[in-house]
This record gives sequence, structure tokens and C-alpha cells, in this order.
Amino acid sequence: MRFDCKCCGECCRGDMHVYLNPDDLGLIAGCLGYKSTESLFDEKIVIIDTEKNGAPVPRLRFGTGKTGCCQLLENRLDETGDGFDRLTGLCRLHPGFKPLVCMLAPYHRSVDLSDGTESWGFTAPLPGCPGCYAAGSFHAEVYRLHSGDPAISPGLKDRLNRERDFYRKLSQLMESGISNDEITKMLYFFDADGIELDFTEQQ
Ligand code: SF4
Ligand code: SF4
Repeated sequence: MRFDCKCCGECCRGDMHVYLNPDDLGLIAGCLGYKSTESLFDEKIVIIDTEKNGAPVPRLRFGTGKTGCCQLLENRLDETGDGFDRLTGLCRLHPGFKPLVCMLAPYHRSVDLSDGTESWGFTAPLPGCPGCYAAGSFHAEVYRLHSGDPAISPGLKDRLNRERDFYRKLSQLMESGISNDEITKMLYFFDADGIELDFTEQQ
């Protein structure tokens, strides 16, 4: 699948659900200058969503209405001079602080938590995405991962592994009967300075 993002920002608007893991929370809080990830919830940049089997999962809160978009999108009107000025969108977190799911898109990963096996897919973020099927380059980093190339960067592999461990931990906590409020405090509120999360030791 060919993909070459044109940075139009269309997939950061509308009714997209962008789910976050704890690493994402730490990165976003750090990028925005917050000392604690709790501020992301206080400022309503992130909300808790329970649509996935009732499990509390953080998600970016998009604005509502026709012009609703991710609050981290910086819209800009490109003055083309041809009478058809276009609205473009740039992510404030790009490139180093982006949520994993945004970084991977339009590739996406599913993990079977019982045995850790992964499957990968490619879904155009929206029907008119100008970056899909373009005669441009592949999303090289993710393509290497997708095709099992060992040249994948350790940083990305590490984030993927940590996300898998996080979902495993979340699933265990749900089974233990702990309340969603307690899970939220336990997994999502932490100091954003020098985060070092390790869920593997708790399995
Ligand atoms: S993925 Fe597609 S819709 Fe999203 S910013 Fe890139 S080109 Fe635009
Ligand atoms: S975090 Fe960035 S890439 Fe992800 S939805 Fe928001 S603006 Fe778009």
C-alpha cells in the first residue's frame, strides 16, 4: 500500500477517536509543559472513554461541531493565490511527541492479549485521504515493521511493546474488580518529568 501523508489535517478533525496509552500521556504532558499528566484531564484535553468493554481508556477530546478537531491540531489557511485557499493542519506534537496511534496511522495494530500475537492492517483514515494510494513513498518505518524487517528502530519497537504490556495490565485490573476511578489514578496520573513506565514487572 502506498502512502504519503499530505499533512492536510483532515484525519485530525471530525469524529475520530484517538486512544492513548500511558506513554502517550507522559509525552503529551511533557510537550505541553505540564508537570503531571493529571493536568491533561483537568484541562479536558484528554477524557476517559469506557466504550471499549467498559475499560477506562484515555482518549483525546476533540472539539464539537462542524469545525471540531483535535485540540493539538494547529490549523492554518494556505493562501494559494488561485482563489481556492485551503485549510491545512499541523500536529503540535509532531514528530517526537505524537501518540503511538497517530504515529502509526494509517497502519494499525491489533494485539491478542492472551498470547501477545500481533496483526497489522492498513485503513485509509477517511475516504478522501489524499495521502493514500498516492504515487509517493511508503510510511517507511512502519512498513519495515509490518514486513518483519529487523531494521525497525528500537524506540518504536519499545513503544509498541509497552503499549501491549499496558493493555495486558489494564485487562488484569478490570478482572480484579478495581473501580474505574482507581484504575485511572493508578495508570494515568503520574509525574510527567522523566517518565519511566514499566508494566512488565507487574504481570
Ligand atoms: S493521513 Fe491523509 S487525511 Fe490524514 S493528514 Fe495525511 S493526507 Fe491528510
Ligand atoms: S495528536 Fe496530532 S496527529 Fe493525533 S489527532 Fe491530534 S493533531 Fe492529529
